[in-house]
Amino acid sequence: MSQKIPRIEIVAVGSELLTSHFQDTDSPYIVTQLEKLGLTPAFRTILSDEEEILRQGLQDALQRSELCFIIGGLGPTEDDRTREILASLLKKKLIFHEEILTSIRQRFARRGLTMPPSNLKQAYVIEGSQILPNHHGTAPGQWLEERQKIIVLLPGPPQELQPMFATYVRPRLERWRIYQVYQARLKLTGITESQIEEKIKDLYPSSGQPQLTTLAYPGQIEILISAQSQNSLEEAQEKVNQMVDKLRSRLGAYIFTTQGEALEEVVGQLLRQRGETLAVAESCTGGLLGHRLTNIPGSSDYFRLGTVVYSNEAKIKLLGVSPETLAKYGAVSQEVAREMALGLQKLAGTTHTLAITGIAGPGGGTPSKPVGLVYTARAGEDGCQVIKNQFLGARELVKFQSSQKALEMLWRYLTQLQE
Ligand code: ATP
Ligand code: MG
Repeated sequence: MSQKIPRIEIVAVGSELLTSHFQDTDSPYIVTQLEKLGLTPAFRTILSDEEEILRQGLQDALQRSELCFIIGGLGPTEDDRTREILASLLKKKLIFHEEILTSIRQRFARRGLTMPPSNLKQAYVIEGSQILPNHHGTAPGQWLEERQKIIVLLPGPPQELQPMFATYVRPRLERWRIYQVYQARLKLTGITESQIEEKIKDLYPSSGQPQLTTLAYPGQIEILISAQSQNSLEEAQEKVNQMVDKLRSRLGAYIFTTQGEALEEVVGQLLRQRGETLAVAESCTGGLLGHRLTNIPGSSDYFRLGTVVYSNEAKIKLLGVSPETLAKYGAVSQEVAREMALGLQKLAGTTHTLAITGIAGPGGGTPSKPVGLVYTARAGEDGCQVIKNQFLGARELVKFQSSQKALEMLWRYLTQLQE
């Protein structure tokens, strides 16, 4: 049974969040989590660390809202005042908790450090608060129910806030759940947003349910499918799954996941299932492909070797690319990409190899070899395949698209999906 829905406010504390240098990403995260329950905030506020502003801002939030998420300013430093100011506004004491201090001390000890005295204040919690343990940092969160208001204090660093929210806050919000919400996240590669629109425009439901949202990035398109049900999660799931099936029938050759995984994760799972191995040779991506692959936990099961062969000399020495080929066709060429992938096969002895050579820009382009020209190669038991790509965008975007195309080639080979 759901209770009366509270008026919700999210307050992010930190002067840096008011500058152009730093974005408040915690509030959007909380909004996303609330949406899963069918809840939306009435206010989103950002407050500077200045004592007077903070006092005024928190007082306003407490007055006008019934459920306040207050993010940041729980740390050990001078400018971390959220806890103290809230306590004074609520006319509550700060209570020392020995077990919090012990766990903070242990955190430092695990890293071979002694706790600095400034962290002591993190062991103080507003009287009456329930403690939300922080498994990824020092400052615990707090859940305080007071005069028909609920105040939730959360640490600022996203890597601390997110797991704390998922484990200790989400379950406490279930009492206000209005809808069951189910979502799928399709990710596609090798196709543009406008090509997708062409293929699926008649599928957009006139009722607005399920909801389709397309997010386009260079090298990757995501389609979010979301449905709500007043009755059951299964009902929402059914609506989403029907849409996923329809989208699959139109776009199946481009969809690499319906669960939101990254392409490197999907490729990794396929390699693991097959007991096969991979090595990569990178020129213009400078290790990005290897980085993406090794960001996946357990990648050592299939990833063997990554080389960054930036110079001609490195390509010759490490991969056995022939100096004649380099002289005749240039480093950014189909022939060199092929020799890189095949040379790496000899060096690494893996089932598959991927190689990338191209011009990431902004300099270095010529009329015949413009910026964004990238050759991606894949070699395996079937021989070697090379694709000539012309990517658009700044240096980092060219690098990402190059790594994505190389992964796509391997994904297509492993799944036998043709474009
Ligand atoms: P700490 O114990 O690390 O001081 P804290 O709870 O006091 O944590 P802040 O001092 O406000 O939090 O912020 C610490 C760091 O957390 C900031 O430097 C910033 O990197 C990140 N951070 C804080 N607020 C946000 C936010 N709203 N969105 C994204 N990141 C944030
Ligand atoms: Mg701080």
